[in-house]
Amino acid sequence: MSKEMGLLLAGSADMGITLDTESTEKFQKYLEMLTDWNTRINLTAITDPEEIVVQHFLDSLSLLTTGLIKKDAAVLDMGTGAGFPGMPLKIAVPEIGLTLVDSVSKKVNFLNELITALGLEKARALHGRAEDLGRQKSMRESYDIVVSRAVAELRVLLEYTLPFVRTGGWCIFNKGPGALDEIKAAGRAATVLGGGELSCIAVSVPMSEKTHNLVMIRKERPTPEKYPRPAGKPKKDPL
Ligand code: SAH
Repeated sequence: MSKEMGLLLAGSADMGITLDTESTEKFQKYLEMLTDWNTRINLTAITDPEEIVVQHFLDSLSLLTTGLIKKDAAVLDMGTGAGFPGMPLKIAVPEIGLTLVDSVSKKVNFLNELITALGLEKARALHGRAEDLGRQKSMRESYDIVVSRAVAELRVLLEYTLPFVRTGGWCIFNKGPGALDEIKAAGRAATVLGGGELSCIAVSVPMSEKTHNLVMIRKERPTPEKYPRPAGKPKKDPL
């Protein structure tokens, strides 16, 4: 086994997550494809393989410690980039249904190649913007869990994501040290969009010195029809 996969298994075990041989092989292949494609298209600023394991794979997997992501969950990752945090969740819990969304088509091309190369079922990558897809009947109020990392500040992110969540489902976001300030500024947006109370837990990601917080919100009521507003508007004029 490679040094990187040794690191991944040890770090996962520290978080109480077990990865079987098949999952570990898929992570190895993901690491290789990501590093290879990254020489041609800009997928990630992190190039050191061990850093990819810690800051991409383990940070993504830390979402599993919330206990909210059930085996048969329908999961959407908004603004997934090179597949984070959604893809590691799918590799670790193959039974979930996964939809990855990004507004940059070359990233979506990478993800579709990756899905094929890993032989993943119940996984798809879509090219589009949150503001447009969130108005589509087939996707609106349809997901048990919506995850997102490094896409926008929380009050903007809520407008990008809550429309996709079914009542009773959850949004879970990876956030850094500013999570509590973002939560203070996002209470109104949460209420307007049909969300409940915002909560935050600090997680320790093995071998990472950074501050990692997970911000969570439960969908309590359907999102009013006027949200999400047209593309660009949520960011320009946050709720
Ligand atoms: N989640 C990944 C990528 C973060 S970079 C990670 O943590 O590594 C932010 C990504 O969000 C970019 O790939 C960008 O194309 C995408 N994005 C930004 N605004 C978006 C929107 N309104 N709809 C869909 N994708 C968006």
